[in-house]
Parts: sequence; C-alpha cells; structure tokens
Amino acid sequence: MPKQIIFFLVLLATLGIFTYSVYRYIRFFRLTKAGFPVKGFLRRTGIMFRVAIGQTKIFRFPFVGFMHAMVFWGFCVILFGSIEMIIDGLGGTEKALGSLGVFYNIMMGSGDVFALIIAISILGFVVRRVFLHIKRFEGIEMKHISHLDANIALGLIFFLMISLQGMNIAYIQQQNLAGKAVLGFYPLSGLFRGILAGYNIRTVGILYETCWWSHILVIFIFANYLPYSKHFHVFMSAPNVFLSRLDPLGKLTNMEEITREVKLMLDPDALASAPPANASTERFGVKDVEDVSWKNYFDSLACTECGRCTSVCPANITGKKLSPRKIMMDLRARMKEKGPLMVKHGRDYSDHRSLIREYISEEELWACTTCNACAGECPININQPTLIVDMRRYLVMEEASAPGQLKAMFSYIENNGAPWQFSQGDRMQWAKDLDPPVMANLFARGEKPEFLYWVGCSGAFDDRYRKVSRAFTKILSSLDVSYAVLGTEETCTGDPARRAGNEMLYQIQALQNIALFKSYGIKKILTTCPHCYNIFKNEYPDLGGHYEVINYLQFLDMMVSRGTLKLTDEVFGNDNITYHDPCYLGRANEIYEEPRKILKHLSSRYTEMRRNHSSSLCCGGGGGQMFKEAEPGNKEVYTERTEDVLLSGAGVVATACPFCMNMITDGIKYKNRETDVRNLDIAELIAVSLNL
Ligand code: SF4
Ligand code: SF4
Repeated sequence: MPKQIIFFLVLLATLGIFTYSVYRYIRFFRLTKAGFPVKGFLRRTGIMFRVAIGQTKIFRFPFVGFMHAMVFWGFCVILFGSIEMIIDGLGGTEKALGSLGVFYNIMMGSGDVFALIIAISILGFVVRRVFLHIKRFEGIEMKHISHLDANIALGLIFFLMISLQGMNIAYIQQQNLAGKAVLGFYPLSGLFRGILAGYNIRTVGILYETCWWSHILVIFIFANYLPYSKHFHVFMSAPNVFLSRLDPLGKLTNMEEITREVKLMLDPDALASAPPANASTERFGVKDVEDVSWKNYFDSLACTECGRCTSVCPANITGKKLSPRKIMMDLRARMKEKGPLMVKHGRDYSDHRSLIREYISEEELWACTTCNACAGECPININQPTLIVDMRRYLVMEEASAPGQLKAMFSYIENNGAPWQFSQGDRMQWAKDLDPPVMANLFARGEKPEFLYWVGCSGAFDDRYRKVSRAFTKILSSLDVSYAVLGTEETCTGDPARRAGNEMLYQIQALQNIALFKSYGIKKILTTCPHCYNIFKNEYPDLGGHYEVINYLQFLDMMVSRGTLKLTDEVFGNDNITYHDPCYLGRANEIYEEPRKILKHLSSRYTEMRRNHSSSLCCGGGGGQMFKEAEPGNKEVYTERTEDVLLSGAGVVATACPFCMNMITDGIKYKNRETDVRNLDIAELIAVSLNL
C-alpha cells in the first residue's frame, strides 16, 4: 500500500506539471491567428500513418533514418510496458496485463529486443553528434543549449533502455529463484539473467524495485522535460503530420483581405455589395508572433532541430545566412519571450521588439528561392516557405521594404505588365515570321481554339528563352493543335510579385487575367513556364479562375504516348543527356517522369545528376531571385547546381523553365564549359529531333 500511495502522488505531480505546461502552450496558441480549416480526416489519417508512423520521409537519409525509425517504433512497442507499469503502480499488481497471453508475449518480447536496439542507436546518435561533427548539426542557430538539450534527452533515453533491460533481467531471475512462472517473453534479458546468478532473492528483488522505480521516474521526468525541449516533438510530431498543409507545395495561401481591397479598386461600384472588411486584420503579413497562424506555431513546437531542411536549402548550402531550421527555432524562441508578456498584458502588448529583425533578418528572408526543398525534406511536414513569404508580405506591404531591384520589378509589372522594362506592344516580337494564331483575331472570326498557349514574360522577352517559345510553337503547328496566344493582351501572371511578397500587385494582375480569360471563354491553358503553370493551376482558383492547366511536358508526353508525336532516337550522338528538375514542376507539382520519358525517347544515353527528382537542387532563380542580386554567400546557387551538371558528365543538360535556363547557362559560362556542355530546353530538343 505505501508503494501505491507514493506512486499515486508521484503520478499526480507528473500529470499536474505536464498539464500546466500544456495549458501554458494553449494560452500561447490563443495569441495566434486562424490557419487553414482542418478537413479531410481520412486523407490526414493516411498521411499520418505513412509519414509519422511509417517514418517514410525519415528514410530519405537511409542509414540514420533506419536508426531513427527503430527508436520510434521501439518506443511505440515499449509504451505498452510503460502503461502496464502505471497500472501496476496504482493497483499494487505485478504484470497486470500478463493475462493477455500470446499478445503479451509478443509485446514484451519485441520491447525487450527494441530496448537493446534503441540503446545502441542512441549511442550511435551520440557518437555522430559529439565526435563526427555532422554539418547539419551545426549552424548559427545551434547554440550550446541546443546541443546540451539533445544530449540530455539522448542520455535519458539511454538510461530508460538500460533500466528496462535491468528490470527484465532481475524480474526473470526473481521469478526463477521464487519458483514462479515468468509472465511474458524476454529473449534478450533471458540470455543475460546469468549475470545475477549467485545473488539471493532479496538482493535481486531490491535490484528489480530499483530498476522499476528508476525507469518509471525517468519516464515521468522525461515527460515533463519534453515540453521545454526540442524533444517535445515526441508528442508533437504525429499530430503535426496529421495537421499537415494539404495543398501542393507550390501553392501560397490567398490573402482574402487583399482580394477585397483589389476587387474594390478594380470595380469601385462593388463597394456597396462588398462584405465588411475583416476587423481582425491588424496588419498584412507576419511581423511578430501574434501574426502567425496556429499551424506556424505548431510547426515550431514540433520542429526536432534535425536540420534536414537546412541541409538541402540552396541558400544555406551556398553560404547565405538563411536557414529554414532557424526560422522555426526563432519563432518558438520569440513566442517564449513575448508570449508570457502578451498573456499578462494583453494581445496588443509591445516590447518594441519583433520576430523580424530582432530574430530573423531581412537578409535571411530575401535569400529564399521558395524552392520548397526544406518543406519537402522535413520529416514531419513542416512548411517553412509559406512563413517566409508571409514575412516578405509584411515587409513589402506594410513597410514598402524590399531590395531595390525587386521594387523596380514591381514597378515594371505595374507599368509594363512584365517584370522587365519592356513594352507591352513588343510582346509578339518573339513570334515574327511564325505567325501563331492570336486569340483576339480568332475570336473576331467567331473561332474558339481549344488551348490558350500562355507564352509568359520570359517566353516573350528573354532573348534566349524566346527560342523555346518558337520551338514549342513550331511543335504545336506541326501537330495541328487548335491553339492561340494572347499576343499583346498577355501580361504578367503576378507570380514574381507574389513570391516577393507583393500580394496586392499579384492579385491585381491575376484578377485582370481572369477577366480576360473569361471574355474569351478560355478553359484550357498550355504553359512552358513552370511558374506560370503553378500559379494558374494552384493559385488562380482562389480568385475564381478555374482552368485545365497543362504543362508542355505533360502535353508532349501525352502526344508521344498516343503516337501523334514521333521522336527520332539518338539525335545527340555520343553526348550523355541529363535533366534538371525545375522546383515548380518537380517538388511543387510532382511532375518528374514526363520529361524523363521524353528524354529517354530522344537518347539512350540519359543520365541523372547526383541530386534529382524531389532531392533536386534549385537553380537559384525562383522566389524573386531572378530579378535581384543574390545575398552574400560563398558561391552562387547556379554555380553549385552547374557543378552537379558537370559531375554527371553530360554534354547536354535539358531544362524546362526559363529561370533554370538562364541560371544554368550562366553557370556553364562561369565554369568556362560552353564548348562541351549545352543547355537546351526540352522543346528545343524535340524541335531538333523533328527537324523543325
Ligand atoms: S524554400 Fe528553398 S531557399 Fe527557401 S528556405 Fe526552403 S530550402 Fe531554403
Ligand atoms: S523544420 Fe523539419 S527538417 Fe527542419 S529542423 Fe525542424 S524538423 Fe528538421
């Protein structure tokens, strides 16, 4: 009975402290803003089983991923024994679940084996952290306290496993000495029970009680340490995966409050019927913790500080200050600093500090290419780029603060409908002597083409990329496709403005385009530019623009599959050919196989770069980077990517995006390899194959 009373009091204290910690976090969550509505329970459950329980993303780093998965699955199994210990502690029983027979044997047996596997894995983790100096465990955000925290947690887990094994060995020996049956199956501990031979039953009993109490007490201590540690992810990871953002990675959240403003600007008569402005909109974008959504904060609490995101971030790899892990850690730290003060003094409380600048510099924010490598890599589906863009939104729309070249890009879009200083009237110069059908002319004749071919600003104005527009136009004509271009009516989609934080300008462009498409009854859009593809497909629907959007590679692959497009093999002789995945086709929209299938039709000498598919490295041109100088670092992102091209040994690198074309061409020039490596778009390769 005294044991039961002591156990009850200890458990009560544990639960009390834990409940207070959770309550503290709930008060902080109340300070955040609404996020996306949590719908799609079944889909979410599937994702949680695949990503959290199945640990699928963890295996992207195979060896250490396997070790982590073993620890996770082992914990799940060992939890069964921990629950039994609590029942025993409260009820004064011994092995209360022992009557479960075979199931009990399986759980105890696998727990016994897992305890050793976990202990060995933990030792492996400690060696990696302390002796191997793995790069992703370093970084300006990884202070001494972060390493100490990790080591304390690893130490506690190791102790838990050792005490569990000790408890099992002592239990078996105690039962043997007492001539009683052993409840459960302990394959490893059974092997080691000989180490207690020669001790009497009393000593073995004391050892058992010591291991039992120390194991359960460390569990209680660990549970109360976790909410203040990066290992809070033990509790937060699975729920965070369940609450994952379900949108494609390339999709940014629409700002409804801006939509209202822009609609009124474009049609002042709509003022009378417009719904009232949302009174809770205090500022546009994110400046500080009160501006983030509950999901952003949840992400920050779930972050394990594993650094997988930072290890694949092109900005970080090339020596820039940006680290997506730091963004999450900074948000968590800032809430820890300001949250209690806001709880005490009210949500409007200001300490004259903010998440932006005091924690996250503008330099970090402007270095992001929005490539989504971080979000794709994160084992618990944290989304960092949307938060980065939200902070850019604050800078641009509240402070008019952005790098000068981005401000110039905004004004070019406003004035010329393109992110460069070109005249709208010159939009068809790329097509001279090709004479593609123009929508207005067809419409005037009462004709309606099946597809709008959206040329895009690069396709219309960029000298190099104009050749791609020409190649694709020739292919469309050779295939007798019913299509038209908008010609001088085409204007920027608003994508570069949106990624650079100018949501207002994006929505002005988008709503104008949607009205134009409506006037022509456009239903199907063909694009060559992945950025245009992404924004039409994923983001225009939020503003009422619903279309069937087809990337040219999907279209051409379909034509090849149908036999309509017949490609000639081996047009590139002995040159190996490789493919660079554009971020906005690959990670953002999961178009990986169509370009590869086409290229394998064109050449039997197809080869992959070391970073490919969802692990592909960004070219460095997205997220507004194309229009500005890169932030200081030790190299350009395009140089890093070009090194992948050169390492592949390919004589031709196929690209499928105007920004990638530009960046990798610059990289090849920088490396002085123009004579032996050619950068060609897939449309150009097909045009060569077809002798167009
Ligand atoms: S989106 Fe790309 S550049 Fe931006 S933080 Fe993530 S990995 Fe880095
Ligand atoms: S955001 Fe995800 S990938 Fe990055 S450190 Fe945190 S848990 Fe790891």
